[in-house]
Amino acid sequence: MGIPFIDLKKQQARIYEKIVGNIKKVLAHGQYIMGPEIKTLEETLAGYVGVEDAIACSSGTDALLMALMAYDVGPKDAIFTTPFTFIATAEVIALLGATPIFVDIDPHTFNIDPNMLELAVKALKQKKSDIYPLPDGYEHLRPKGIIAVDIFGQPADYNRINSVASANNLFVIEDAAQAFGAEYNGAKAGSLTDIAATSFFPAKPLGGYGDGGMVFTNSPDLAEKMRSIRIHGKGSYKYDNIRVGINGRLDTIQAAILLAKFEILPEEIELRCLVADRYTKFLSSSDKASPPFVSKEVKSAWAQYSLLSTHRDEIIKTLSASSIPTAIYYPIPLHMQAAFSRLNYKKGDLPVSENTCETIFSIPMHPYLDIKDQRHIADIIMNIV
Ligand SMILES: *Cc1c(COP(=O)(O)O)cnc(C)c1O
Repeated sequence: MGIPFIDLKKQQARIYEKIVGNIKKVLAHGQYIMGPEIKTLEETLAGYVGVEDAIACSSGTDALLMALMAYDVGPKDAIFTTPFTFIATAEVIALLGATPIFVDIDPHTFNIDPNMLELAVKALKQKKSDIYPLPDGYEHLRPKGIIAVDIFGQPADYNRINSVASANNLFVIEDAAQAFGAEYNGAKAGSLTDIAATSFFPAKPLGGYGDGGMVFTNSPDLAEKMRSIRIHGKGSYKYDNIRVGINGRLDTIQAAILLAKFEILPEEIELRCLVADRYTKFLSSSDKASPPFVSKEVKSAWAQYSLLSTHRDEIIKTLSASSIPTAIYYPIPLHMQAAFSRLNYKKGDLPVSENTCETIFSIPMHPYLDIKDQRHIADIIMNIV
């Protein structure tokens, strides 16, 4: 039997009875929409993350969308973000008619580079695209906010990002879709900015059995606005619509499943760290692939274990011949995606992101990966000639 990329079966076997029990409770009370499990999940996860408010929603993408809508983002607004992420991060900006301004990443953490962010904000404010590459139409844009991403589970450099934001009167959204359970200077991912968004897609560190997401904030005003946006812009009741919103609810059954899974999440984060440390130890002397760098103020949630190699294709082929799956996150940086061609970015505009996309690959990563399998995977990588 091959090694799975992510093993959800081992996790399920541990908590099967609890999951079934929780689902049965929902079947018994029958409140499939906004049932009591939603509120329990919101309060439980807000407490874990360490924020005042959490709002469950239909996906990580809708969590980001609701956060931007809470700031009334629209046409003429520029949102600074990273091109080295899943499309959803920038898609929501474009959906609202706003424009993403892509900022290059740090070559070690793969997160948005605060120095480049500072430069990009300055370039837009001074309307000078020779300071930093800007998208077509930048002359008509005003800087409004930042979406930073905690890529692969490692929080971005929020001390720096938040200070660039406050110096320029910008909001910051943390895309913590891959980082639930991670920490930055002892504070949990999800608590590091004005609003954070996470995802419960099955493969994420806290995954459900379907789509789901959540936003976190300490602002009562933003929380109230997002609760309204989540349910068609409702006011005092469902048929009082005070703004344009979405159908952004999480299903009660998903909340019930997530409550069962959350019970073992803290332990699973520790296991992920152990697995990652083992890989890094086994691969530390490799001259063909470089293991991930984790900055010292961070504890990663290890959504992915990603290496850089100029021999990527060869390594992937050799692993595949031994039935070991790999993945490339991400093959194309967002500024080079057809979906954003109207922005007219050029190859070479964001060289670190482009180079990372050409050399990065991820190997199997989950809390239940055993040492023998890890040794086997590492040996294959070490023996590439
Ligand atoms: C998965 C992911 C999303 C979107 O989450 P969904 O729940 O799939 O909508 C957004 N941003 C990042 C960085 C992600 O990895």
